[in-house]
Amino acid sequence: MDTQTLERYAEDIYTCNRTRCGFCVAECPIFRVKGFEAYTSRGKMMIARGLLEGLLEPSDEMQDVLEACLFCGYCQARCALSNLEVFTLLRQRLLEEGLSAPQLEEKVAKIVQDRVLFDRPADLRREGTVPLYLGCLYQSKPVETRTIISVLERCGIDPLIVEETCCGYLAEATGFGEEFERIQHTFREAYGEQADKEILTLCPTCTVTLRDKYGLNVKHAIVAVAEKLAELGPRQLDMRATYHDPCHLGRMLGVFEEPRQILRALGVDLVEMEHNRMFSTCCGGGGGVMDTDPALAMEVAKNRIRDALEMGVETIVTVCPTCEPTLLRGASRLANEVDVFVDVRGLWDLLDEALPPG
Ligand code: SF4
Ligand code: SF4
Repeated sequence: MDTQTLERYAEDIYTCNRTRCGFCVAECPIFRVKGFEAYTSRGKMMIARGLLEGLLEPSDEMQDVLEACLFCGYCQARCALSNLEVFTLLRQRLLEEGLSAPQLEEKVAKIVQDRVLFDRPADLRREGTVPLYLGCLYQSKPVETRTIISVLERCGIDPLIVEETCCGYLAEATGFGEEFERIQHTFREAYGEQADKEILTLCPTCTVTLRDKYGLNVKHAIVAVAEKLAELGPRQLDMRATYHDPCHLGRMLGVFEEPRQILRALGVDLVEMEHNRMFSTCCGGGGGVMDTDPALAMEVAKNRIRDALEMGVETIVTVCPTCEPTLLRGASRLANEVDVFVDVRGLWDLLDEALPPG
C-alpha cells in the first residue's frame, strides 16, 4: 500500500480532523486504560493525516499506538466514518516498513502454512443437514464444542461439519492483505460447495469475516437456538447475571436481543451494564492486543468486570470463545484487588444445563 490507498479515505480523515468532535474518545477501552488521545480513533485519524501529507513517517511509536487498538468498533458506532478501514490501512502501511509485532507475524504465517490458527486436537467432522462452521478457537476446544453440538441437536438442529480452514480474520484486520488473499483461496478450496449454502457459525469474529470479506450467507447459531427455544421448555436457572455483548456479535452482526431472550427463557434475572448493546465495551481480547500487549488486554478486561460490579452483579454471561476466557482472566486478576470474584459463564453451558438431555 502507498498513500494512494489511504487517499481513498481522505474525505473521512479530513472530516474527522476538521470536526474533532471527540465522541469516540472517552469510552474507547484503550483510552480508559492509557489516558492518551493518540490511542483513540481521533488520534489515529490525525496520524493518518500526517502520513497522507508526508508530515509523519512510520515509526516505533506509531506501531505502539496502532497495535494497541482492539478493533472493537466502539468508535465506529459513535462516528459516521470508516474508522476500522482506516486503521487497517495504517497497519498495512507499517507492515510495508517492516514494523509489525513478531507474535502477529508468527500467527499469520501459521495460518498460511498450516491452514489453522490453533492446533486441532480432535476431528470434529460429522454428517448432518445444516452446515456448521466451527472456527479455529472452537476447533481447538473439542470438549466445549461437543457440548454446543449437543445443545444444537437438542434444539432439533442436525449440524453438518466438514473440513474447514481458518477464516483469516487476524491477517485481514491487522493489515496482512496478501496473506489474507491466500487464506481466502485456501478456505474456498477446502469448504467447497458448503460455501453456497446458509452456514451456521459459532464464533462471532469468524461470522463477521465470512459475511463481510467472503460474502457468505452466515447465521450465528445462537440466533437459530433462540428461534427454537420456546418449544423446548428449558429448566429455570436460579441466577442473577449481566450479559456482555461480544463486539462482533453485537455491534457488527446486530445480534443483541437473542442472547437476552434466551437468558430470560432460562429464568435468569438479567441486569444490564451501563455499556450495553451497540455501545458495549470490548473484553480486551480483540485486535491481537492479547498477543502484542497482554498486560494492556488484561487492564481492559478488568474494566469490563468493574462495569458488572458497578451494577452489583457477580456473574457475567457471554457467548464468544474470545470474550469468555479473556473476561475470566480479567475477573481473576481483579479479584486480587477488590476481593470479589465475578464469575464468567458461557451461554452454551447454561443452555446445556437447562435443556432436557437428548
Ligand atoms: S467520533 Fe469520528 S469524527 Fe468524531 S473525533 Fe472520533 S473519529 Fe473523529
Ligand atoms: S476500535 Fe476500539 S480500541 Fe480501537 S480506537 Fe476504536 S474504540 Fe478504541
